[in-house]
Amino acid sequence: MTRNLESCDGEIHPKAIEGMYLFNLRKFFEAHEELEIAWNEEKGEVRNLYRGILQIAVTYLHITRGNYDGAIKVYKRSQRWLEGWNDVCKGINIKQFQADARNVMDEVERLGKERIGEFDIALFKPIQWNEKRVWICDRCGSEMYEKNCKVTCPNCGNRFDCSDLNLYFD
Ligand SMILES: [Zn+2]
Repeated sequence: MTRNLESCDGEIHPKAIEGMYLFNLRKFFEAHEELEIAWNEEKGEVRNLYRGILQIAVTYLHITRGNYDGAIKVYKRSQRWLEGWNDVCKGINIKQFQADARNVMDEVERLGKERIGEFDIALFKPIQWNEKRVWICDRCGSEMYEKNCKVTCPNCGNRFDCSDLNLYFD
């Protein structure tokens, strides 16, 4: 699937940030409510990313309630919205998020319907993101700009890729 990657520039919707904080506290129902507001209010294609994250919150909620079929169904649905992005979009580490969710689902499938109650919630990993979307050049101190995940210094030409996770999540 081809995404409009320009929709990954700029700040995360504030309700999506609230949703991700709640997600990381494993308050999946509340996380889903906040992300739904972000999805409704956002006009760009990134709204679908918020929808995908929302559906992972619902998937995890189903798991905590022992609803095996619900978890499998909503997870499958989420992939339509989560695939095709760069590793990082709006500072959110999508690649890691997807790997963590895949791990969760591997374990859910291994346990199966009968034993889903044994699921270890330690497998619910936090979403990683960087809210600060202002870049200061480490060579000359100018403010850098970001476009399609390329961060460039207008003064000295220093560049890096925003999906360089070591730079991003230190
Ligand atoms: Zn510079």
